[in-house]
Amino acid sequence: ENTPVSVVGLGLMGTALARAFLKAGHPTTVWNRTAAKANALVAEGARLAPTIGDALGPGGVTILCLTDYSAVRELLGDAGLEGTKLVNLTSGDSAQARETAAWAEKRGARYVDGAIMAIPSAIGTADAVILLSGPRPDFEIGALGTISYLGEDPGLASLYDVAGLTMMWSVLNAWLHGTAMLKTAGIDAATYAPFAQQIAVGVAGWLPGYAEQVDKDSFPAEVSALETDARAMAHMVEESEALGVNAELPKLIKAMADRAIAAGHGGEQYPVLIREFERAGE
Ligand code: NDP
Repeated sequence: ENTPVSVVGLGLMGTALARAFLKAGHPTTVWNRTAAKANALVAEGARLAPTIGDALGPGGVTILCLTDYSAVRELLGDAGLEGTKLVNLTSGDSAQARETAAWAEKRGARYVDGAIMAIPSAIGTADAVILLSGPRPDFEIGALGTISYLGEDPGLASLYDVAGLTMMWSVLNAWLHGTAMLKTAGIDAATYAPFAQQIAVGVAGWLPGYAEQVDKDSFPAEVSALETDARAMAHMVEESEALGVNAELPKLIKAMADRAIAAGHGGEQYPVLIREFERAGE
């Protein structure tokens, strides 16, 4: 028996969420501020809630997917939340998630925060990763994609979301910088891409071992010492400058390593830079 669900917010993402629930056979109620956006879903079998209060009705779980947290607070400001189960998949930061969780719980809701790591067309497939945090979910929303429950702290989904973004853009920036260098020698992006991919995959394989060093706060130079790495970094900066490509990224990488070396960590292994990342920069 599929859990009855309500989807509140039928923008590009909310519509995809509602459609995935319908396809999987969940009794699906929908609500949107601009009611006309529900028409197609109603034709596909969704029930249109006449009011937001109706969409929050008991017995099911309500998925919220609005522009931002202030829209959520504005919309639910006057609604009765006693006994409701809310899953807020609206994007935001961890402080907003924690505040909204406390606000909703005080009003009697069971509140789970979430973050969607996918585009609307991927919703309903295993590729759509949906992060949840807060009280352990006692409902089934696997129809949306791969659900990953991270823990009790409602801020965790937003934190993982942002951590994923910094990983994604760091890898892409590194690749683009390398591509710019190779283009000066007439090598096109498509030729370099498989090589770059191999390096990215190789480096990704180091993460579990390096994570152990971070967690033990012990950084023996088993592979190479930071001062050895720093010599390669100097080379990376000089080459970028000589080629006339943007050197901001290599300079940033080198500046952080130089600070760690100046603080006495030159003989340790690269993950000792966690010390640089744990404090606010200048
Ligand atoms: P849209 O702009 O398409 O939809 C926004 C929705 O929010 C609409 O349903 C809109 O209602 C509603 N809304 C905004 N303000 C209010 C309000 N004050 N009261 C009631 N309803 C309101 O955005 P998306 O669907 O693309 O995104 C929704 C959330 O999903 C965002 O937080 C986004 O970051 C997140 N997300 C989106 C992804 C994507 O690829 N699209 C990917 C991952 C996350 P109305 O129709 O009446 O304007």
